[in-house]
Amino acid sequence: MLNLENKVAVVTGASRGIGRTIGLALAGAGADVVLAARGRDKLRAVAQEISAAGGKAEAIPTDVSQEADVERLFGKIREQRGHVDILINNAGVGAFGLLADISAADFDQVLAVNLRGTFLCSREAMRLMKEKQSGYIINISSSVGIKGYPNQSAYAASKHGIMGLTKSLAVEAQEDGVRVSAVLPGAVNTDLIGDARPDLDRTKLLQPEDVAQTVLFMLSLPERAAIDEIYIRRRGSQPW
Ligand code: NAP
Repeated sequence: MLNLENKVAVVTGASRGIGRTIGLALAGAGADVVLAARGRDKLRAVAQEISAAGGKAEAIPTDVSQEADVERLFGKIREQRGHVDILINNAGVGAFGLLADISAADFDQVLAVNLRGTFLCSREAMRLMKEKQSGYIINISSSVGIKGYPNQSAYAASKHGIMGLTKSLAVEAQEDGVRVSAVLPGAVNTDLIGDARPDLDRTKLLQPEDVAQTVLFMLSLPERAAIDEIYIRRRGSQPW
């Protein structure tokens, strides 16, 4: 069984959906989990859910697209915990529709949360992980990190960007003992998918627990083993 006792884990976008479920799973494995998202009340409710189940969690409201917010988040972690072992870059938004109809403001917002947010959190985490010469960063990308679908150009651009960031950082971080991986889920039954793929029957999709289990699997490997990426899709979708 995976034992994450004495490990500090940060999960962004932890107030609902996949991030919430990853937060619960990490806390269930014994990690001290720092939950980050913008929505204060929902975030606190997740922290309370974890505490009620006997786990350790703190909610720190953060907008990952804002440099000052992210610096404050990791500053608090440095002050109160001194280190961070795991970062799950999960916060994400979409702007779905034909490219011809997407506003520049919506495009910028998707890139700001998904890509800039992943950059800012990874940068701050790396500074702490370098000091300890260990750590694990897992970026929640998407099947559109390697594929393209209509109505998803902004979202796909952000997720392809995350793949580039992941690949470069994985090489850079190697000498600091830090592993960097991507998880690329297909459609998952959360609020986000309703906007992205209204054509899909949500009961047949992956569940957030499937992604959380994948993350736990990655973390359960011995330090000598590093995974670059895991692409996980609903069984009914097109293989490869
Ligand atoms: P979701 O239910 O909409 O949750 C998104 C989370 O991100 C929420 O906690 C939200 O909280 C947070 N968030 C949004 N903007 C933020 C910001 N600026 N700063 C901090 N947190 C922010 O979506 P989900 O499906 O669980 O998505 C989680 C991740 O999985 C995303 O990266 C998404 O792209 C990826 N993914 C999803 C699917 C899918 O089919 N659902 C498939 C592949 C990949 P606040 O609004 O309170 O900030």
